Amino acid sequence: MRIDILTLFPETVGDVLSESILGRAQERDIIRIDAHQIRDYTTNKQNQVDDYPYGGGHGAVMQADPLYNCWCHACDEAGGPVHTIYLSPCGHVFKQADAIRLSKMEHLVLVCGHYEGIDQRFIDECVDEEISIGDFVLTGGEIPAMAVADAVCRMIPGVLSDAECFEDESHWAGTLEYPQYSRPAVWHEREVPPILRSGDHARVARWRRKQSILRTRERRPDMYAKLKFETKEDKKILREIQDEDELRAAEKLDPGK
Ligand code: SAM
Repeated sequence: MRIDILTLFPETVGDVLSESILGRAQERDIIRIDAHQIRDYTTNKQNQVDDYPYGGGHGAVMQADPLYNCWCHACDEAGGPVHTIYLSPCGHVFKQADAIRLSKMEHLVLVCGHYEGIDQRFIDECVDEEISIGDFVLTGGEIPAMAVADAVCRMIPGVLSDAECFEDESHWAGTLEYPQYSRPAVWHEREVPPILRSGDHARVARWRRKQSILRTRERRPDMYAKLKFETKEDKKILREIQDEDELRAAEKLDPGK
């Protein structure tokens, strides 16, 4: 997988994405991430990339031409087909399913806007998809581009080692992850749930599944509503949770019970 990021801050983007797991994946040639300075593709003496918005209003808009020249350069270098994404608060909100979908592509080009955004004509001509990382506005597309690149790359086979496997993680199968603990067994008088130290792998797996379901129900009712309890074990866990709910409700009605 190759990712080219078009930005006014290539050093920042390059530094962050060459650390840790993604850095190692680049060293092993599983992924390649290049950040390109859009200013290098201007044709004016001041290397100006923005101008006033037609129709008036405050701020500046990134012009189409430097972006286009930079984009052509990234496409030419890669040679094959590209999928171009503009990071924008007007895009669809990024989800884990998008990370999985995009991880199957050969070449992504991520375009970072700044100021009031970018000229619509560049979007119309070159952009395949607009992605937002949430319903808020940042000053630039660099943080969203880094977030998308990171989430996509860790879905590529070989980027994560077995120990870092993602299949139990939040959002993989419609649930949030169970609580995690490490040593020491007691910290600030808080004890790790004894079952996790029992060495009984089947009971640990069941406990984790139940915690995942409970946490999803409590924190993300929208996700919980879509959960399907299809396996025998899941059905048993669900019954157990319902029994516990009923017991708690009865105790509330009759505290002496
Ligand atoms: N005027 C634009 C609007 O109201 O939609 C906001 C422009 S924002 C200040 C500058 C740049 O930051 C955008 O072009 C985009 O690349 C990036 N950006 C800001 N918020 C974002 C978000 N939630 N998701 C993705 N990109 C975002």
